[in-house]
Amino acid sequence: MTQHNHDLVVIGAGPGGYVAAIRAAQLGLTVACVEEEKLLGGVCLRVGCIPSKAMLESSEHYAVAKNDLRAHGINVSGVELDLATMLKRKDGVVRTLTKGVEGLFKKNAITRYEGRGRIAAAGKVTVAGKEPVEITAKHILLAPGSIPAPLKGVAFDGDLIGSSTEALSYPTVPTHLVVIGAGYIGLELGSVWQRLGSKVTVLEYLDRILPGMDLELAREAEKVFKKQGIEFRLGAKVTGASAGKNGCVVTVEGAESISCDRVLVAVGRIPNTKDLGLETVKIELDARGAIPIDDHFATAAPGVYAIGDAVRGPMLAHKAEEEGIACVEHIVTGYGHVNYNCIPGVVYTHPEIATVGKTEEQLKEAGTAFRKGVFPFIANGRAKALGQTEGRVKILADAETDRVLGVHIIGPRAGDLIAEATAAMEFGASSEDIARCCHAHPTLAEVVKEAAMAVAGREIHI
Ligand code: NAD
Repeated sequence: MTQHNHDLVVIGAGPGGYVAAIRAAQLGLTVACVEEEKLLGGVCLRVGCIPSKAMLESSEHYAVAKNDLRAHGINVSGVELDLATMLKRKDGVVRTLTKGVEGLFKKNAITRYEGRGRIAAAGKVTVAGKEPVEITAKHILLAPGSIPAPLKGVAFDGDLIGSSTEALSYPTVPTHLVVIGAGYIGLELGSVWQRLGSKVTVLEYLDRILPGMDLELAREAEKVFKKQGIEFRLGAKVTGASAGKNGCVVTVEGAESISCDRVLVAVGRIPNTKDLGLETVKIELDARGAIPIDDHFATAAPGVYAIGDAVRGPMLAHKAEEEGIACVEHIVTGYGHVNYNCIPGVVYTHPEIATVGKTEEQLKEAGTAFRKGVFPFIANGRAKALGQTEGRVKILADAETDRVLGVHIIGPRAGDLIAEATAAMEFGASSEDIARCCHAHPTLAEVVKEAAMAVAGREIHI
């Protein structure tokens, strides 16, 4: 076994781990990163955010070419799907970005170890790769990410019944795809295959889609997706799914079984915290299987830290990145902070759905008095020119101080528009602050300004 020493060893090269490694190197630490997959970048780059966005983009082009160009006076005929090329393009995007992380590691002199990393003792990590390695380090940062949550009665077969990983690479367009779970993954990947020609049925346990998001927006999203052709069965508790020669059968409590040719299970993710050697340093997992940490990402074991999907909070790549940076900055400088109230969430469907801060339901539950400003995209010139007028911006501001408490958007480029709201909230802005900022005309961002004006009932264009 070869021996190495570094100041910091990071286990996991997803967005949390690789960003933390780079920031730590910038701050002068000698850094190692252990990753068992050949490609760097974690689930996000390999089989998550990035390939799903590539497929969302491509399938959107296909749907636009088939259905929408005519309205712009562009007549195209013979629009055909070449799924193999679409998948190849997606793989190319992934390859380029994972290579990019390799390049960043080289630039920052970060040593990469390929293999499964485990804590062996305080300050010691072993890597079970081609050649076993032992690394000693003053600091150990765990960034092992998450894995798809299993569902009782549903056996993943790695083909017909699978997770988002399989759904990013179906070799043919399923005739009927059943999606279990109307969360981020179910809606994004359900949209992809619906656009490419599948009949998509989404089975959701709750009586609403997108749990946790602002209810008014979730209801609007449901209407829009239904119009696009996605079928929803709400209040449907899936109790089993099996695959046979003639496809799959999904069983639902108290309802008829559904036959289909593929099943996508998207009922959440769980921390990937097994087999990390946590017991060697007496770290005990919480009830969710997550690693308990304090406000500075320190675990119960001295010198061991944890971030990202493996700890509390939303399972989002950008949240993991912020935590990675804050964690290593705190180790080196004594300062490092994440504002959990200002972490945006985006569902990259069409239209996109984006949110930051508190929902109306959360404010009501907390008894916080608020004022609400809403402005629809249909009254915006740019949205009209784009031909994308569905949706609205909703701003919730404290009734007394006018401080912005939450912003919720469904509409074109909502994922980009939410950045302004996030920045405003980080700076403690009032709705009047946003309303008095000059927004370029004609842009979609004007809908954010008008929603801010609407908080005081002084929106102009409606
Ligand atoms: P999710 O938590 O967003 O949604 C899961 C859904 O499954 C819920 O609505 C839940 O009620 C439903 N469900 C659970 N058990 C069920 C059952 N037996 N029958 C029917 N429905 C059931 O989870 P996800 O969509 O799998 O995503 C996992 C994680 O990945 C999320 O935490 C999300 O934040 C993250 N993610 C983020 C993005 C993004 O940022 N755009 C994209 C994909 C995934």
